[in-house]
Amino acid sequence: MTVKETGVSYYGLNYVEHARADFQEMLDHHCTAVVLALSEFDLDFWFPNIKAIAQAAKELGLTVYLDTWGIGKWFGGEPPSLFLTNNPGNRQVSALTGEPLAACCFNTHAFREYFFEICEKLAREVDADGFFWDEPHYALPKSYASITGGAGDDWSCRCAYCQRMFEAQYGYAMPRQLTPEVKRFRHERALDILETASRRIRAIRPASKIICCVHATLGTYYVTENRGYDNWDRVAGSAACDVFSTTILSYQLPRSFFRSVTQRTLDAARKHGKGNQRWVMGYYQEPENLAEIGDVIRLYAEMGVESIFAWTYRGGHGTVLAAPRALEVWDTIGNAYGEVLGK
Ligand SMILES: [Zn+2]
Repeated sequence: MTVKETGVSYYGLNYVEHARADFQEMLDHHCTAVVLALSEFDLDFWFPNIKAIAQAAKELGLTVYLDTWGIGKWFGGEPPSLFLTNNPGNRQVSALTGEPLAACCFNTHAFREYFFEICEKLAREVDADGFFWDEPHYALPKSYASITGGAGDDWSCRCAYCQRMFEAQYGYAMPRQLTPEVKRFRHERALDILETASRRIRAIRPASKIICCVHATLGTYYVTENRGYDNWDRVAGSAACDVFSTTILSYQLPRSFFRSVTQRTLDAARKHGKGNQRWVMGYYQEPENLAEIGDVIRLYAEMGVESIFAWTYRGGHGTVLAAPRALEVWDTIGNAYGEVLGK
């Protein structure tokens, strides 16, 4: 087995003595690492205890990663965005309808500076091992979403700011169609903000390990979802990525899809000499036979995955996104972690 790290995400970062007990429970579930999911509200309101909680996790022996969770609704996640609340402008805009969307345009100066300040403050003041870029993406301006995504006709962002930048670069107005130039522009901008943030973090805390986790989608010739991070080769090769990671998959998908996503993740990471990571769904949805969760974790381990993480602590118990048998899911994950770590 090649597994070096097993972990779980954790949110609700409020009281250090409660977090300490939860971290002990993670250790009892054979976790070696934790991703602290930090919402904009947490960062704004609970910052002193975020520092203390990260410290407590380190003292107990966990590797600690900081997840800029849902920030600007550019990263994946449920938390609302303070930036969106406080800035009526700076929103992503639908290319076809021109309507503003409930997501920040991460190409604007205002949002970039806001994000860089958060990263630098975390790097300076929180004793963590690294950062976790959690499903960064352009907003998908459609009324539905699925775990594997799906191609839509509309896209973002075509705000005034992006239009000006595009025109300055290419010398003509930004098309409403996803032309090759528009796709290239979106990819470049999407990686630039993460690369700049990573550089600023490493300038403060050089040992920071940066995990870049993108949606585990098909990304093939016929179907590409245009989230801006669909070219895994470019993401894995980017300076914003020390560990290339791909997200959870629904248990309803065939095992062949789990294998192909995992193999493509490993191939992209290895090509660029990066670490690799795969995620397991440990909330919301569960297989009929919970033992299949262990099968997936063992599959990843056998295929050569180094870092396996599950979203989230206790199967999301107590949230609207809890797995139906949340605590059993959590125990199943813990047992499988022990197995693949050889404990
Ligand atoms: Zn924009």
